[in-house]
Amino acid sequence: MRDTFLPFSTPSLGDEEINEVVDSLRSGWITTGPKVKRFEDDFKAYVGAPFAVPLSSATAGLHLTLLALKIKEGDEIITTPMTFASTVSMIILAGGTPVLADIEPGTLNIDVTKVAEKITPRTRAVIPVHFAGQSCDLDPLFSLARQHNLTIIEDAAHAAGTEYKGRKIGSLDSISIFSFHPNKNITTGEGGMVCTLDETLAEEISLLKFHGMSREAWKRFAASGTPNYDIMLPGYKYNMMDIQAAIGLHQLPRLDGFIDRRKEIAELYNTAFADLAELALPAYAPYQQRHAWHLYTPLVRTELLTIDRDRFMAELKNLNIGSGLHYKAIHHHSWYRENLPVADTELPNASYASDRILSLPLFPGMSDNDANDVIAAVTDVITRFRR
Ligand SMILES: *Cc1c(COP(=O)(O)O)cnc(C)c1O
Repeated sequence: MRDTFLPFSTPSLGDEEINEVVDSLRSGWITTGPKVKRFEDDFKAYVGAPFAVPLSSATAGLHLTLLALKIKEGDEIITTPMTFASTVSMIILAGGTPVLADIEPGTLNIDVTKVAEKITPRTRAVIPVHFAGQSCDLDPLFSLARQHNLTIIEDAAHAAGTEYKGRKIGSLDSISIFSFHPNKNITTGEGGMVCTLDETLAEEISLLKFHGMSREAWKRFAASGTPNYDIMLPGYKYNMMDIQAAIGLHQLPRLDGFIDRRKEIAELYNTAFADLAELALPAYAPYQQRHAWHLYTPLVRTELLTIDRDRFMAELKNLNIGSGLHYKAIHHHSWYRENLPVADTELPNASYASDRILSLPLFPGMSDNDANDVIAAVTDVITRFRR
């Protein structure tokens, strides 16, 4: 057994990120300013988006996108139960009604045929999540959207670097929302980015992100600016800081290398676990895409073991291997059970995965030895607890 604890994820931060943050601190300009603008431009160029709005988080991006789309009471928004809480919470906080459509059993992405079944005259938008960094099947979703006049909002929190049929997520004719939380494929500490082809929407989100102010502070206080400003509407305080963008500026050029390393580790796992009936391994989607491997999430087939998933995770921890839970399905959380109850029989695939899923360690700084320690620990737990 290893003598140090291996976390399920940790960011890869180097001297360039550290020096750039120090540079911001020494410059006296630490909040939204020129580095945020540079990061916005670099990110737009990387994904191929004409417009992008940097924000304090992806959650802020989901919130402001829904507000900018003027979601009103009674509007239904279809999304997946296999996501982080904020995808669904923001629908509620924006005044809409979330409708959960079941997932595919292999990729754990939203099942487009289930989305089609949930469409009603009140449906306004669909929020697919590119689960674990693997693109949802967007072509049939876009064609549903055209047929029923729906907006597609891609929750791209896992999908920086993901491609669908040769096109980067962020460049398609929809709205994509990325996260730079420390566990994600690149980080700014906390941070998010909304990418869109719609200039008016980008402007609306920009206005909402900073007090509804006509001009951002750094422009007002710059030598060429004027201190005067105007409030166009009551807005939020969701801006990204230069200190955050300083980190992102040096993470972005490393993203493709990070993904390559994540893929190598995921494939080590796939090969090592191929013959273990007790694990259902993540499946590759049948269409052409580039998987960003944000997470490696096998399902522990507890029906073949004498322990449940939580005990499985505790046993891994005893062997100094960390793991994560992405995700307990939305309809299994207390608030949703009480306020928007959905029976497991309505969402059989998500319900099955929810009780069995776990995230094994996967981050670019892992060595092959680390991966082999994970493989040994998982195999050991299965061998001791199989029926
Ligand atoms: C991380 C995550 C979010 C929220 O991102 P933040 O930047 O932490 O607000 C939303 N959706 C999914 C699927 C996520 O993984």
